[in-house]
Amino acid sequence: MTAATTLTPDQKTWQNHLILHDFYGPLPLAPRRTPMRELISTLLSHRTTHVAEELAYSRMLEEFGDWEGVLAAALPALAHAIRTTRWPDTQAPRIQEILRRIKAERGEFNLDFLADWPVEKGLQWLTDMPGIGLKTASLVLLFNFQKPVLPVDTHVHRVAQRVGMIGPKVSVEKAHQLLLAQLPKDAVVLLNFHKHNYWHGQHICFFTKPDCVRCPLKGFCNYYEEHYGPATAEALAATPKHWDTAWGELQH
Ligand code: SF4
Repeated sequence: MTAATTLTPDQKTWQNHLILHDFYGPLPLAPRRTPMRELISTLLSHRTTHVAEELAYSRMLEEFGDWEGVLAAALPALAHAIRTTRWPDTQAPRIQEILRRIKAERGEFNLDFLADWPVEKGLQWLTDMPGIGLKTASLVLLFNFQKPVLPVDTHVHRVAQRVGMIGPKVSVEKAHQLLLAQLPKDAVVLLNFHKHNYWHGQHICFFTKPDCVRCPLKGFCNYYEEHYGPATAEALAATPKHWDTAWGELQH
């Protein structure tokens, strides 16, 4: 018996948190951008690189000035401004519908009221918006309002499945709930868990050919054991203890 088979999913999730926290370093819980920007930028980021998302966001506001201008823009012009994203013709009407609803319900383009709302109510309100799923809603609530929720994107989901923190058939949507139940309801822990696993999926646990040699999770990872057998003492001893900045830049 090895740690890959003897540790429960909860134990793997906690080990993952402790090990990646040490590997990538602790992160403070500080909003990286305003709630409105987090919401719209995350929408623009779907299947789009960070550089292309930033370019779309800045072109949109340069072209139309502010949210009022974006709302009043002609749809083809808005789609053109965000053309570096994957689906500009789909995202442009979504952005305007989101802005229309926020303005109609709140009277201004401001999401600060979410700070006072219970988590479930905030999630429901955000996910009722077109194109806003559980991941985007959770990012806004966690990053901007320090609510105890866990965003699960494709990277977090892949690492969790391979290690065995969740089952191989668990959907991304369901993973939000299962992983959250295995972690303390502490926004700092949840932010660190999200970002560390996001980076891990981006830089080590690749979709094709994961770089298991460099991975500090190999000692209890199901995928590793299935492909390479139980992690040996030599393999564990040769595993780097910390992220090396020479391997690439971690996007915050
Ligand atoms: S050991 Fe390999 S498959 Fe497992 S988490 Fe690490 S990189 Fe991914």
